[in-house]
Amino acid sequence: MQIRNLNPSQDIGASAWFVQIDGHRLLMDAGTHPKLEGHASMPLYEEIKNEDLDAIAISHCHHDHVGSLPMAQRYFPKAHVLMTELSYFLVERVLHNSVNVMMRQKEELGIQEYPLFTHDEIDETAHLFQGFRYNREIEWAAFNKTRAGAASPTLEFYDAGHALGSAGIMVRGSKETLFYTGDVSFRDQTLLKAARFNDVRADVLIMETTRGNRMTPLGFTREGEVDRLAKAIQSVIQRRGCILIPVFALGRTQEILAQLALMMRSGQVQNQPIYIGGLGRVFTEIYDLQAHRANRNHTGLKLTDALNLIVLEKGQAEKMRLNTPRIFVVTAGMMSDKTAAHDLALRMAGDPKHAIFFVGYADPDTAGGRLKAAKHGETFLFSPSGGEVTRQCQIEDFDLTAHANREDLLDFVGQVNPKTVLLGHGSEESRMWFQNAILERHPKIKIVQPQPGVLVEA
Ligand SMILES: [Zn+2]
Ligand SMILES: [Zn+2]
Repeated sequence: MQIRNLNPSQDIGASAWFVQIDGHRLLMDAGTHPKLEGHASMPLYEEIKNEDLDAIAISHCHHDHVGSLPMAQRYFPKAHVLMTELSYFLVERVLHNSVNVMMRQKEELGIQEYPLFTHDEIDETAHLFQGFRYNREIEWAAFNKTRAGAASPTLEFYDAGHALGSAGIMVRGSKETLFYTGDVSFRDQTLLKAARFNDVRADVLIMETTRGNRMTPLGFTREGEVDRLAKAIQSVIQRRGCILIPVFALGRTQEILAQLALMMRSGQVQNQPIYIGGLGRVFTEIYDLQAHRANRNHTGLKLTDALNLIVLEKGQAEKMRLNTPRIFVVTAGMMSDKTAAHDLALRMAGDPKHAIFFVGYADPDTAGGRLKAAKHGETFLFSPSGGEVTRQCQIEDFDLTAHANREDLLDFVGQVNPKTVLLGHGSEESRMWFQNAILERHPKIKIVQPQPGVLVEA
C-alpha cells in the first residue's frame, strides 16, 4: 500500500492521510493547522488532486482532523464522507462554526482570504456525510459509482475514547491491513471510557505521538489530579477570586463540566454558576442527548441539568465584574486574540486573587502557552492586542489529557505487531522519542516519520 502524509507541517498540524490500497484510494481526515492561517493551514490536497478518490473517512470532529473537509470536498466532490454516527451529530456544527470564526477573523484580523468556505457549501455537500456504528465493516470503495462491481477494501471505526464520536480507523485490503489511531485515550476519562482497541492487529500502523515528549510521573493517577483540581478551585472560591479554565469546546469542556458537577454534588466545591461559550453549550447538549449511544461513565449525568450553565454573550468577558467568585470554562486553549479566554486571561493575570487552570496542552507559541510558562511576577508579551502582562495570578497545570500517554502507546505498538509504523501528530521531539523507544523494544519494525507530501511505500 502507499501512504502520503498531507499535513503541511512537521508538528501536530493538519491531519490528512492519503491511502492507496488494492488500487483504491481513501483520504483519512481533513484537518486544519491550528497555528497557521488561510491556505497555509490546509493539507497538501494539490498533491493528490488527480487521484480518483473513493471516499473520505473522518476520525473525529476536532478542527485539526475535520476543519478543512469542505476544501477536500472541492477537490473530490463525489467522495462520500464516512464517520461514526456520533461524529455525524457533530460535524456540521463544527464546520458552520469554522465559517463563523473565519468571518470574524476576516473582519477583526483582516485576513482577506477568509472564509475559505461558506455555510451554503456545507449545506450543499452534507448529503454525502454518512454515520456508521463502531465495529461495522464498510466497503468504502463501493461508494465510487464509476468503479462499482470491483472488490472493495473495507474500513471499520474503533472507539478511540478521545472525544465524543472519536475513532481509530482499520483499513483492510485483500492482503494487507492498516490501522490509524486518530487521537486516542487508553485510559478512562471522567465521561468517556478508554479506547476499545483491544483486538487491533495490523501490518501498518499510523500513530499519533502527541505526548511523546512527556513522561508519566511515578504514582500519577487521574483521580488524584481531579482531586487536586477540586481543592484548588475551592480555595480560589474561598478567597473570592475567579477561575478560568481554558478548554476546547468539544470534549475537554464536557469532561471538565462533568468533574465540576461531581465536585459540587459531593460538596467538595461550593455550588456556583459556570460560564461557558456558545459552542461549548451546543456540544454539551449533544453529549447529554447522546449519552446512551456513547461508551461512557455517568450515563445518567446530564450536564445541562446538573449545573447552572450560563452562556457568555459576545463582549461580556471584557466587561463582566470579577469581584465575586466565578468559574469560566471557555474556549480556547490557545487563547487566540478576541476570544473570551483571551479577554478574561488578560484581565485576571495581574491579580493574585484569581486563578487560571490549564488542563491540557497549550502550544508554547500561543498566548495561552506564554501565560502558562510565565513565572510569578514576570512581565511578558501576552498577545498582539493585549500587549504586555505581569503575571500575579495563580497558574496551575492539571494533567487531564484526552491523549494516550507514551508508555501506553508503546505497549499498543507491541499489541498491533506491525511491520511498519508511521509517526504523526506530534512534535519532532515526540516522534524521535517514539522512534527510539519502539526500535529498542522491536528492532525489526520499520519506523517512518513521513515528510509532508512524500509518498511512503509500506
Ligand atoms: Zn482530537
Ligand atoms: Zn488531533
